[in-house]
Amino acid sequence: MLYNPPHPAETKILTRRFGLPNSESLDTYLANDGYKAFLKATGMTSEQIVDEVKISNLRGRGGAGFPAGMKWSFVPRQSPKPKYIVVNADESEPGTCKDRVLMENDPHQLIEGVLIAGKVIDAHRGWIYIRGEYRYLIDIMDRAIDEAYKNGYLGRNIRGTGFDFELSTHTGAGAYECGEESALLESLEGKRGIPRIRPPFPAVSGAFQCPTILNNVETFCAVPSIILHGGQKFADVGVPKAGGTRLLCLSGHINTPGVYEIPLGFPMMRAINELGGGMLGGRKLKAVVPGGSSCPILKAEECDINMDYDSMAKAKTMLGSGGMVVLDETTDMVQFALRIMRFYQHESCGWCIPCREGTLWLRKLLTRLNQGIGTSDDISMVRELAGNMLGRTFCPLGDAAAMPTISIVEKFRDEFEARLARPASSRMPAPGDLVSIA
Ligand code: SF4
Repeated sequence: MLYNPPHPAETKILTRRFGLPNSESLDTYLANDGYKAFLKATGMTSEQIVDEVKISNLRGRGGAGFPAGMKWSFVPRQSPKPKYIVVNADESEPGTCKDRVLMENDPHQLIEGVLIAGKVIDAHRGWIYIRGEYRYLIDIMDRAIDEAYKNGYLGRNIRGTGFDFELSTHTGAGAYECGEESALLESLEGKRGIPRIRPPFPAVSGAFQCPTILNNVETFCAVPSIILHGGQKFADVGVPKAGGTRLLCLSGHINTPGVYEIPLGFPMMRAINELGGGMLGGRKLKAVVPGGSSCPILKAEECDINMDYDSMAKAKTMLGSGGMVVLDETTDMVQFALRIMRFYQHESCGWCIPCREGTLWLRKLLTRLNQGIGTSDDISMVRELAGNMLGRTFCPLGDAAAMPTISIVEKFRDEFEARLARPASSRMPAPGDLVSIA
């Protein structure tokens, strides 16, 4: 199992059972506060549970950072339709692998979070939508679900509380786009995974057009601690408008990459130097992708920053999905921009033109620049094209492709300019690259 030994700089709430013998088993979970929060929640009203989640300042951990308690309160509980709970476990953002470790090491924590959400809106059915590439995780989750059924923590009249809940896993087919909540719902219903026009949002019309709570794995996993120990205790760990901890997926040119649990507001340079063990080979820091490849990049001199939603917004970037990639002075930023664009162009579902055509043309231009056969107009065109995609697409994938590109071109334009002087023959195209833009 993927597991980092605890680091003294961590604050372990969601990961506190990691490393215990058989941490994924029901016995270990029950011996360490497991399902106590659910049993406590059965004695609370929906309003009381939602209030605790609101007090905790828990914000969605999938990337958008929307307050979870507010999202839950939007569900029309009086609707005669059935209500559903959907877990977004389609973790696809490059650099991100936190939901994976949560499901691998403590799957019952996720199940308990789902049950509590189900209690809030009187839902009796839920799905955990797991990306296709995480096939081995489906076995782990299925075993945990089976164990929960056999021991009365799922199914009819759960532990004598009178509450019924059915839960199963659902396998995605490996599309980044299905991490977007409405595309995920389409896929869950057996259709092509493209986004829906919104509103209505899933809280009102989600799975099978019924009211649905849809959150990320990490968000649900935070709920049992919030209910068991009170929302205020969770809120006190973070910063005023964002409570609790964040699982940080630290990778790139550092000595000790891994997944670390840190309080919201943790300084980025401490993450690099203490959790990450400093720069690999003692080389200099060049830039940081702060929260997954879709986030605007930060230059080294911008990294003296606290990692919370507001501080990152002030720096014109985002906390994103927690995937922090550290780049050292040897990183070729033209190649890096191209590598990111190859990914987004491949993953574009093709429904809307700015994304479908924009990512294709950005890839062509970046390929040309990377090969040393671009012109200075191409650099400007990359910036302009990406700028024209922003806010003009049906789902956030268009922005996800444009934002890092704009930041790289603006902050490292000198590297693009320097590349213009190189002879074309010195850089060979990668297989599948489109060399000509004609
Ligand atoms: Fe599809 Fe891209 Fe449009 Fe999203 S932005 S709907 S991925 S084409």
